[in-house]
Amino acid sequence: MTPLADVAIVGAGVVGLAVAYELLRRGTRVTLLERGEPGRAASWAGAGIIAPGNPDRANLPDDRLRAESAARWPALADELTALTGLPTGYRRCGGFEHVADADPAWSSEGIEHHFDPDQTAFFFPGMAQVRNPWLLRALVAAVAQLGGTIRTQCEVTGWQRDGDRVAAVETNQGRVAAGEYLVCGGAWSERLLGPGTAVFPVRGQIVAYRIAAGGPEHIHVWDKQYLVPRGDGLVLAGSTEELVGFDASTTEEGIRGLREFAESHWPALRGATVEATWAGLRPGSADNRPTLGRVPGYRNLCVATGHFRAGVQLSPATGRLLAELLIGRTPFIPLDSFRPDRPAGPPARPAFRS
Ligand SMILES: Cc1cc2nc3c(=O)[nH]c(=O)nc-3n(C[C@H](O)[C@H](O)[C@H](O)COP(=O)(O)OP(=O)(O)OC[C@H]3O[C@@H](n4cnc5c(N)ncnc54)[C@H](O)[C@@H]3O)c2cc1C
Repeated sequence: MTPLADVAIVGAGVVGLAVAYELLRRGTRVTLLERGEPGRAASWAGAGIIAPGNPDRANLPDDRLRAESAARWPALADELTALTGLPTGYRRCGGFEHVADADPAWSSEGIEHHFDPDQTAFFFPGMAQVRNPWLLRALVAAVAQLGGTIRTQCEVTGWQRDGDRVAAVETNQGRVAAGEYLVCGGAWSERLLGPGTAVFPVRGQIVAYRIAAGGPEHIHVWDKQYLVPRGDGLVLAGSTEELVGFDASTTEEGIRGLREFAESHWPALRGATVEATWAGLRPGSADNRPTLGRVPGYRNLCVATGHFRAGVQLSPATGRLLAELLIGRTPFIPLDSFRPDRPAGPPARPAFRS
């Protein structure tokens, strides 16, 4: 059997990597088990929108998760770059919410914004972005630099149970034993933990344009669709929400719909080149909340999944929360409304979409 790690994390997407990073900073030994290459699933495919937030005035757990993450992003991005020499693409580019009415949560939380009559939209100077492939590369390098192990092409196929404890995970590379186990399997988490997990795949497609001039400078969000300029002529137009199982391919219809949306809202994109299209599987949940905490019936098994449209933006606070839980500290945000056995509730309506 492979030697003990303190914590074995299943899944090296942004969530698994963020928890690993926070654990390693606290001196815990970590092994990530990733069935493919790290950071190549939903986390790679996302648009990287980071919603703003004010941790001093955010009250509800969902808002605190967003606000604490928003506050942590600039320092986290600096830390990752200082450690690895790699950029994350984090920048506070500002963004517009194209909605008729302001969300009361924006003012009650004291999030800076104003109505822009030219855009007939609300502008948020604190809206930011990361460049997903860059962020993931930096996180992978940071985890390695801090002494974490990432086992690639290592698929977890089952659990060896000993009473109320997990004794080992079974993988295609043999058994791996640890003191604590954490499932960060994204859209595939239910396959790892069973039907009660209630996490399901929601496909999202993206069109990436290359435009020489005249593209948007800021993020623009219209309900579930958005434009995200990377600042170097690349503009992402996203995204679809499709319940099609584990099929992560693009479709003609999906791409056509995104192009119609993008080119009608930003006519200059009609003359731009479509550089790439792709799709990813978000980990959806019935109440739009992530599932974070100890898995009932086990003393040494935790889960962090179901972040749906917001896993990248929520990854800093998620990383810290799970790291604290795994090393026996009291999490800085109460986990009750995220716990795996929470009662079914209506879908949460986030103050910001991504
Ligand atoms: C088109 C699109 C746009 C998005 N835009 C945004 C955005 O602007 N902002 C934002 O915050 N979020 C956005 N999201 C959502 C965000 O990308 C996800 O919430 C987030 O990436 C989920 O991260 P994860 O680590 O849970 O999952 P993943 O990145 O999917 O990682 C899960 C990992 O687990 C591995 N795994 C699964 N099963 C096993 C197994 N049995 N053994 C070993 N490994 C396993 C997988 O291979 C994978 O690498 C977007 C998503 C999509 C698809």
